[in-house]
Amino acid sequence: MSDGADHPPSSEGVEEGELPECPHCGRRVATVSVLGPTDAVAAPCGCSIAPGTFSEPDFE
Ligand SMILES: [Zn+2]
Repeated sequence: MSDGADHPPSSEGVEEGELPECPHCGRRVATVSVLGPTDAVAAPCGCSIAPGTFSEPDFE
């Protein structure tokens, strides 16, 4: 009944695992640079994607 810490909190690589994958090359996308209403570039891979691909304003 002892709720011991069998799984120590991992404090490494947590944020990177939450990065979305690029729909074109599958690499992790760190940032998205929006160039216009219909143009955006994912970084660091540099693929062109549609703005709002990863950002959901009303995503609960
Ligand atoms: Zn890409």
